[in-house]
Amino acid sequence: MSDAERILVTGGAGFIGSHLVDRLLAAGARVTVLDNFSTGRDANLAGAAGHDRLSIVRGSVLDAELVDRLVADSSTTYHLAAAVGVRHIVADPLASMLTNVRGTENALASAHRHKVRMLIASTSEVYGRSDQVPFREDGERVLGPTWVHRWSYSTGKAMDEHLAFAYADMGLRVSVVRYFNSYGPRIDESGYGSVIARFAGQALRGEPLTVHGDGAQTRCFTFVSDTVHGTMLAATRDAAVGTVVNIGGQHEVSILTLAEMVRTTLNPRAEIQMVPYESYYPKGFEDTRRRVPDVTRARAVLGFEATVTFEDGLRQTLDWCRRNYAGKPVMH
Ligand code: UDP
Repeated sequence: MSDAERILVTGGAGFIGSHLVDRLLAAGARVTVLDNFSTGRDANLAGAAGHDRLSIVRGSVLDAELVDRLVADSSTTYHLAAAVGVRHIVADPLASMLTNVRGTENALASAHRHKVRMLIASTSEVYGRSDQVPFREDGERVLGPTWVHRWSYSTGKAMDEHLAFAYADMGLRVSVVRYFNSYGPRIDESGYGSVIARFAGQALRGEPLTVHGDGAQTRCFTFVSDTVHGTMLAATRDAAVGTVVNIGGQHEVSILTLAEMVRTTLNPRAEIQMVPYESYYPKGFEDTRRRVPDVTRARAVLGFEATVTFEDGLRQTLDWCRRNYAGKPVMH
């Protein structure tokens, strides 16, 4: 990567965004972060702060003029800013939808206007509760009814993808990535709200680890260095222009198994408690039973493969949680 590269990362203070910023700086880029610090945190950028090739702008992707100015000044824009975490979405569906659709529209319109290469971060939530596992990019999307707020996240992100492809038809060089349960150091119980962060926090406080439902639901947890690597390939490969690519590992883990692994590592005396979904999410919540990426396209288009094993990634993550969670207030 040449020094001339000017990269804008919206959501650059977030969990995935901050790791992306670290990697871009290490590769020699000039990086501007746009973040409203809703779930993004200063601490995520603590290592990068003060770097002479980094600028941090506190602002919203809903501020179209600001977005336009920053996008115009970049050679590539990575658009990661979004209302994230299913629990946050169901708690504030309207604000989440506006951020996720209008914010992306602002970024895409500017990138098109100024002919800037663009990467849009989407999500495996887009597949909804499809049972065509593993999920292929061209597979069906199966969503529940519109009054179940969970599905508004999937719908909003799918709208982002539709917008991206509409702009691609008009000549925008844009790629879309769908993330699968990224995790690693900096996961946050109250921000992005991953189950791994929650179990780690519970185990460290000596609380029971709360497994929802029967715990047989599965996810393919993807270590954040792999997530970032796939994202950078998608933003730079010509073959990825105008396409959407799954970014995830294929190692499927049940939530109950995850709870057992976290307990064993952090606090063997902690209990595992099976609790109903209603104890955490609003009534009527619907979960995705299995979420597994088909990685054929990621291999073919990006030459991408997740390489960090779950054992190794989880160990690094839980080590970080042990060092960083002690005494921190959390959202219940
Ligand atoms: N989950 C759980 N206990 C918790 C938090 C989450 O059993 O305290 C479950 C959740 O119901 C889902 C899975 O863990 O089945 C993954 O949840 P997460 O919020 O990490 O991500 P999602 O895959 O739902 O986007």
